[in-house]
Amino acid sequence: MRAVGFHEHGGLDKLVPLDVPSPKAAAHEVLVRVKACALNHLDLWVREGLPGLKLTFPHIPGCDVAGEVAAVGPDVREPAVGARVAVNPGRWCGTCEWCVRGEHPLCPEYRIMGEHFPGGYAEYVAVPAANCVELPTDFEFVDAAAAPLVYQTAWRALIKRARIRPGEDVLILGAGSGVSTAAIQIAKYAGCTVFATSSSEEKLRRAKEIGADVLINYREMEFEKAVWELTGKRGVDVVLEHVGEATFEKSTRALAKSGRLVFVGATTGPAAKFDLRRAFWRQVNLMGSTMGSQTDFEDVMKLVFRRKLRPVVDRTFPLEQARDAQERLAKGEQFGKIVLTVD
Ligand SMILES: [Zn+2]
Repeated sequence: MRAVGFHEHGGLDKLVPLDVPSPKAAAHEVLVRVKACALNHLDLWVREGLPGLKLTFPHIPGCDVAGEVAAVGPDVREPAVGARVAVNPGRWCGTCEWCVRGEHPLCPEYRIMGEHFPGGYAEYVAVPAANCVELPTDFEFVDAAAAPLVYQTAWRALIKRARIRPGEDVLILGAGSGVSTAAIQIAKYAGCTVFATSSSEEKLRRAKEIGADVLINYREMEFEKAVWELTGKRGVDVVLEHVGEATFEKSTRALAKSGRLVFVGATTGPAAKFDLRRAFWRQVNLMGSTMGSQTDFEDVMKLVFRRKLRPVVDRTFPLEQARDAQERLAKGEQFGKIVLTVD
């Protein structure tokens, strides 16, 4: 089959066309003919190499797949051959303490398609049947592929971890990212007032279109100072943080007393620093979150399929132009998801 991947870690130039055998569906798996595969920042980090990540080369990236079921393993009852599906990229053991509790991302064997094993920059991918949800007949593959990773991440962070409530003020950093566009919509859907930050007026305009109420251009004023002014020196109830080192302390300063800071990433670096005295005096809550359980995935995809939440697609590229697509993501030019299409 045709695919795009890399034989060794490194820069964009390592991403090359591959001609590799198609995977086969194991007993509990289905073989999906990929129609669309969305990019994630994780794709860039996997290509560049992550500490402790040992891959079999050539490696095929790609976490977010939508496509048609082309074959099913002998133990699979559904979905059937021909079904149009989107796939939860997570894998877990199913039997440990955390899996039994339904807390799949806490499973010691939790893995992500495209990171730890072959992903969707390819014509075919084999996935557990239980990870598939069927698309409504009129739902586009590109929109479906844009949703799984970022929507389950934003859903778990805001709904399960931070437990946002109607009327609360929620600050979403970096309005253009995939997680942020999902989070803006989820917080709006939950009845919150949504504050969004960006350095780009164009991205703030787009953020407003998808539900952001209060726009903060951090080139004009530090965002935590803007929050302080805009909330009458109260701060926001919840901050969703994925930027990391560059913003973490500012995020703690944007919080109201007893506020919740939920963090799902560390794009600018892992070594966050902040004033513990301020944090305990104001009794703030710091909560980590990552990915989602199968329930989180199914709950949020239901709202996506009902068009209550609308994946934002920045641009599509044919599979063969995966390198151009990754370059656009690396430059941070996008608003929403960049999606590869496979003929
Ligand atoms: Zn487990």
